[in-house]
Amino acid sequence: MKSDSNLERVLAAGHFAVTAELGPPMSGDAGVVRKKLEILRGQADAINITDCQTAVVRLSSIASAAILVSEGVEPVMQMTTRDRNRIAIQADVLGAVALGIKNCLCIAGDHQSFGAAGKLKGHPGAKNVYDIDSIQLLDILRRMRDEGVQEGGDPLDVPPKLFIGAAWTPMGDPIDFRVLRLAKKAAAGADFIQTQGIYDVEQFAASMKKVCDRGLHERTAILAGIIVPKSAGMLRYMNSSVAGVTVPEALIKRFPSVKKDASPAEKKAARKESEETGKKIAIELIEQVREIPGVRGVHIQAIEWEEAVPEIVEGAGLLPRPSPPASG
Ligand SMILES: Cc1cc2nc3c(=O)[nH]c(=O)nc-3n(C[C@H](O)[C@H](O)[C@H](O)COP(=O)(O)OP(=O)(O)OC[C@H]3O[C@@H](n4cnc5c(N)ncnc54)[C@H](O)[C@@H]3O)c2cc1C
Repeated sequence: MKSDSNLERVLAAGHFAVTAELGPPMSGDAGVVRKKLEILRGQADAINITDCQTAVVRLSSIASAAILVSEGVEPVMQMTTRDRNRIAIQADVLGAVALGIKNCLCIAGDHQSFGAAGKLKGHPGAKNVYDIDSIQLLDILRRMRDEGVQEGGDPLDVPPKLFIGAAWTPMGDPIDFRVLRLAKKAAAGADFIQTQGIYDVEQFAASMKKVCDRGLHERTAILAGIIVPKSAGMLRYMNSSVAGVTVPEALIKRFPSVKKDASPAEKKAARKESEETGKKIAIELIEQVREIPGVRGVHIQAIEWEEAVPEIVEGAGLLPRPSPPASG
């Protein structure tokens, strides 16, 4: 075992893995993290903690992940290369390991211009770092763990035991480049992969065929991303504005349309119907991606809607979660 994390053990034992996302609050309120982790407890093999997603300031992923550890729930700490240089990242990862964190997802992070969307202003004037990219970060963490060295070559007294992951956008343009990026991430040290949200299952299956043809599914465990849709508007936004996400029109049409002059009661009823439709679609997507060769699990992202996860996990027949024993 590289880390002996629960996620690693579940995958090593050949189970279909489930991870779910927890979005930290835009405050220092640990109570919000505790409330969300209780909703997700027992629903997934590990809980991903986002790192200032959409480039908006939130309770840090390290602190949030440490709160999960203290409550007996396993986190996947997400770490972007946007906000820290290689010295800060390595120091923070060692700090995270010292706090009991065993899984780390290495990502570039949303560009700071992304934050100025919808009602949020973000920090479009922020200076980004990108001292290293996500593939270099994978390589650095793998060498810290397997060779006991820092990026510059200095030794580490004790190598960090980490299960290392990366994100993958299978349908981003140019599409032919995507399997190559995955191959690079696997070669750099990605033990597991969590993909961008999948809505076009046929297109994803075609990408996975290329992945399997190259044997990449045997080098890294691929968890398909399921972003739970909440409304037609959300899907339209993702289709038009999130790179690498394509949403078939037929899915969007399943949501109720609300007339502009609808009464508050009609709007409330439509919202409820939309939420039920979104959960149903998420369950169907899980069932469909599960059939695709090479898919080893799902990563469920119910953005600011963690309450939806238990019903989805249960509806998809993914409970109870396995608990393979720790090795030693
Ligand atoms: C599961 C998941 C979790 C995420 N969590 C967070 C989070 O917590 N916080 C956050 O801020 N963002 C998060 N994101 C967003 C993500 O980091 C960005 O969408 C990023 O642009 C792509 O993810 P990556 O880290 O895999 O990027 P990478 O694979 O490192 O690539 C970053 C971008 O640069 C492009 N690129 C890289 N190298 C080259 C090159 N040589 N030439 C041209 N283009 C290149 C890539 O195609 C890609 O568009 C998450 C995304 C996913 C799928």
